[in-house]
Amino acid sequence: MSAVRTERYVEESRRGIADPVLRRALSGLQERFGRGTAEAYRRLPEGPGLRQTAHAIREKAIANLDLLLERLAARIRANGGEVFFAATGEEAVSYCAGIARRRGVKLAVKGKSMVTEEIGLNSVLAAQGVEVVETDLGEYIIQLAGESPSHIIAPAIHKTRNEVADLFARKLGIPYTTDPPRLTQAARRALREKFLAADMGISGVNLACAETGHISTVSNEGNIRMATTLPPVHVAFMGLERIVARLDEYEIILRLLCRGASVQDIGTYVSLIGGPRRPGESDGPEEFHLVVVDNGRSRLLADPRFREMLCCIRCAACLNVCPVYGRIGGHAYGFAYSGPVGAVVTPLLTGVQRGRDLCRGETLCGACKDACSMDIDLPRMLLELRAILAAGDATWGVKPEGGLERNVWRIWAGLVSHPGLYERLLRAGAVLQGLLPRGVAGWIRRLPPPLSGWTQSRDFPPLAKAPFRSRWARRRREVGRG
Ligand code: SF4
Repeated sequence: MSAVRTERYVEESRRGIADPVLRRALSGLQERFGRGTAEAYRRLPEGPGLRQTAHAIREKAIANLDLLLERLAARIRANGGEVFFAATGEEAVSYCAGIARRRGVKLAVKGKSMVTEEIGLNSVLAAQGVEVVETDLGEYIIQLAGESPSHIIAPAIHKTRNEVADLFARKLGIPYTTDPPRLTQAARRALREKFLAADMGISGVNLACAETGHISTVSNEGNIRMATTLPPVHVAFMGLERIVARLDEYEIILRLLCRGASVQDIGTYVSLIGGPRRPGESDGPEEFHLVVVDNGRSRLLADPRFREMLCCIRCAACLNVCPVYGRIGGHAYGFAYSGPVGAVVTPLLTGVQRGRDLCRGETLCGACKDACSMDIDLPRMLLELRAILAAGDATWGVKPEGGLERNVWRIWAGLVSHPGLYERLLRAGAVLQGLLPRGVAGWIRRLPPPLSGWTQSRDFPPLAKAPFRSRWARRRREVGRG
């Protein structure tokens, strides 16, 4: 498992909010992709309703995962490939490390893969002397910078052109330039050498199809195709949920993936891989391994409240519309997955209690559900997580939270069930609030402790002079109904 820093969500969010460069970059990203995705769904020949069809396809696949994975594995094995089912991230990593040892791998080229970020593959291979080179341009940039991705699809979105120029000049020894084509060419030259010299190619899997026995990868740079065909060994990592039953279903999910991820009708390079190179074929690896990673996903499968999360294809459309992600950026979420998908899946994979701030940080505005290519109800699951944190849940190892909040609600419940007392308190509060500082439109600037946290970053609406019930009764009297 890669490093988990979810406990620092609040601190890191503040840092993100205070960074004007990051805010500008995120706002540009959301402006471009957020709006574009909705338009791309509308342009679908079947209309935006195809997202609901996709949801049904994914739910059916999740309900039949065992059968579909078996079918996929049987087809790949029949084609000469190996399939390894890893219960944990550690098992997945050590399987790959074992292949690297056996083959004497010194250099591995890697296509972008979130599941390998999740399980912390690179650091383990590096510890045994394997140089692992990220080949997606964004991933390559952040690898050179020694950072982690801040967006599922645009991992280096937090870096400015000047920062990249400076980084390339230092690390690749090229003359300083901020010209994007020149920077891209420099990366391409450096990576070309790595592709040609690599002993192993590593990739993720966007989606597998049980019927055909293929995994597929999608990229716009062609790097994954190079990483999976040039080296003599290809190891593909796949979250166990990334599968559909039939080719016609695969086609629907793929079209939505490309629209949700990058507002494209189709990705530039879509590869279907079903095994190693066959006798007589000129391209492809001698060995092909598929590592199917569980790493906590079975727990989601077993819980009807969160099973829907397995429909996710990590397209990142939800990040591109999320007002919270748009302010704080991806690093604040403290794990491989950020934005609304991260706020749900990270606590479920790494610990609900330690990731508790993630689900509380989201606004529940519903934009993520509207944008989701698989029509996943993320707000519902955010609420489920909050309920678990409040009430406790043995399945997820969560103890009920301290009594303060519960006691506050108990007092509230007691008050509202005694309307006379409640009204007297409201009237007293309406008078006493005159002592508090006011801002725009009479809103309260600062509440006294223990409520002061509320007004730390926003104003509080003032209590009405007369409570609603008495105003309502007066109004009814005035119109002659009381
Ligand atoms: S939750 Fe939906 S929008 Fe977000 S990454 Fe997953 S599939 Fe894409």
